[in-house]
Amino acid sequence: MPKICTAWEGGDEFGLILTEMSDDAALEMVNAVLETAREPVHIGRSPRRCSTSIGLATFPHDGNDPATLFKAADIALYHAKSLGRDRAEIFNNKLRESVELRSSLLGDIENALIRNEFELFYQPIVPTDTTRQVSLEALMRWRHPKHGVVSPAHFQIGFEHQPTAAALGMFMLEQAFKDALRLRTLGVQARRIAINLTNADFRSDLFIDRFFELSQETGVPPRQFCVEVTEGMFLGRDQRRVNQGLQRLHEAGVEVAFDDFGTGFASLTHLRQMPIDRLKIDRSFIANIESSSADQAIVEGIVLMTHKMGKRVVAEGVENRKQMEILLSMDCDFLQGWLFGKACSVDELPELINTMSRDEARPLRCNVQ
Ligand code: C2E
Ligand code: CA
Ligand code: CA
Repeated sequence: MPKICTAWEGGDEFGLILTEMSDDAALEMVNAVLETAREPVHIGRSPRRCSTSIGLATFPHDGNDPATLFKAADIALYHAKSLGRDRAEIFNNKLRESVELRSSLLGDIENALIRNEFELFYQPIVPTDTTRQVSLEALMRWRHPKHGVVSPAHFQIGFEHQPTAAALGMFMLEQAFKDALRLRTLGVQARRIAINLTNADFRSDLFIDRFFELSQETGVPPRQFCVEVTEGMFLGRDQRRVNQGLQRLHEAGVEVAFDDFGTGFASLTHLRQMPIDRLKIDRSFIANIESSSADQAIVEGIVLMTHKMGKRVVAEGVENRKQMEILLSMDCDFLQGWLFGKACSVDELPELINTMSRDEARPLRCNVQ
């Protein structure tokens, strides 16, 4: 008969030592724990539900001293959390390797921040009305000493690890204000500069306070900015803080754009509840818009709904004229994609925008001041 030797508590974490047990029996036991933890707890009249995540490590296979065993169980626990919580995962060596890789990449990102290797590139967002004045989306790049200009796909992990994401966010904010001033001196007047945010930017008031400080220091008004948020930020624990932070920015004149619209689970609920001015239709719906009547119907539906709500629509990932024509016929408000220009450095922007405004062959011409 298996026995639980001991249990201990640390914060909201508990440990169980199960002795003389096969892996299958241990899994059966932890599944029973998961099941029991799912039972609602009644506080006053309202039932509260909670979930548990469990990581399992086996002696001596995964470690033959307590520290190594704990570490292995911890890695499995974080894996269970990353897979959506409310589940149990057993440790394996691949997990250890991926954790080691992750922490070495996070270290590299933090060092790169110290060495000032990050920079913001800007991609035009083109209006389809007659104003022609482009907005710009700030997209981060890592000017890597060995690999050259590296795109976020290779350091995405930095945006997912809270302390690193907060540091990247702060860098991005400071740089966006500096670039806004530099753009002025280069003669580029963007309608708005859009910056991408993560939950980490709302965990404390630091980011938003700094936003207003920088606005004061530089004289670049909040209405010069747009913040892009994704649905993931409206889910989970930070929901209230994100909502409050967005309200603060919105009240000061910052526009809020719902990024990657259509890829989440409950986008419509958030559209109703959050102070959102623009929707950015994810480029996966635009990619096949010429050939897929389903994608066409989805995009057209989103444009109609958004306009009825008094908001505006941006189509992302516009790569060819045919896509542009379809989107124009649907009355989409802004277009963004390689057809108009890829993201480039601040110094390259005047040339890109000049070409856009001069080039008769370009589909939508833009203003440069
Ligand atoms: P996103 O916010 O959806 O940004 C748009 C991405 O689509 C950019 O990739 C852009 O270069 C790419 N793109 C633009 N037009 C086209 C097109 O016509 N075709 C195709 N195939 N792609 C196009 P990028 O710059 O690699 O950024 C990827 C993601 O990294 C961004 O997706 C955003 O989620 C994240 N990211 C970038 N910079 C920042 C940042 O400063 N802060 C945060 N939090 N996230 C960032
Ligand atoms: Ca974006
Ligand atoms: Ca997007």
